[in-house]
Amino acid sequence: MAIDPRLIRMKKAFELTISKPPAGRIVLLVARVWLRDAASASEVGVIPAQDPGARGKGGAPIDGLRFHKPSLKESNLLEIATWNTGKPSNLQDMANPTHAERQLCEFLNTPNKERYFSSIEVELTHSPCTACCAMLEKLKFKNPGSSASLRWIEPYEIPPQATRKDNLEDLMGVGWELSAPATGLPLSPAKGFGERWSHNEIGRPGMRIKSLDVKR
Ligand SMILES: [Zn+2]
Repeated sequence: MAIDPRLIRMKKAFELTISKPPAGRIVLLVARVWLRDAASASEVGVIPAQDPGARGKGGAPIDGLRFHKPSLKESNLLEIATWNTGKPSNLQDMANPTHAERQLCEFLNTPNKERYFSSIEVELTHSPCTACCAMLEKLKFKNPGSSASLRWIEPYEIPPQATRKDNLEDLMGVGWELSAPATGLPLSPAKGFGERWSHNEIGRPGMRIKSLDVKR
């Protein structure tokens, strides 16, 4: 699967290393997280899918998330890779146990092992759905004073949880910095069939989605 070159971290994580995602994944996510407490040297591992029924090719249980410490110098930095753990058809379901963002949030919020951060950078192939936007909003509240950025390429348009303009505005309202190309922004029912909101129409003045469009 070719990764869009605008997702710099993801391209590096999934194409330039041997750490390929499991076969058949649609939504991919990579994150860099600067923890408030330095991660221990054992902070390397694989986490099973949050949905215990999730199965990969051949019916074997599927990994949900991988993480490692990329640098000895930055002992509090973790790199995380995750993906949707269900079949593509599961992406139409309500709630989000098979979504990539859910794997990330459950990892950071592991009971009795919460990983609080001062900074998080997330790259996603698709915009977060309505349920994932609400969850990422809570994640930011759990980490007051943190910087948080999220970039994506494709719009998530599968009903009933297709990304809406107000979902993104809520995320920006709690301090997430968002970046996407014009083709990755939500559809606008107000404008007519197939029309999208523009970067200028999402968010308040001075707080808008940054453009990932290639300058010509
Ligand atoms: Zn989602």
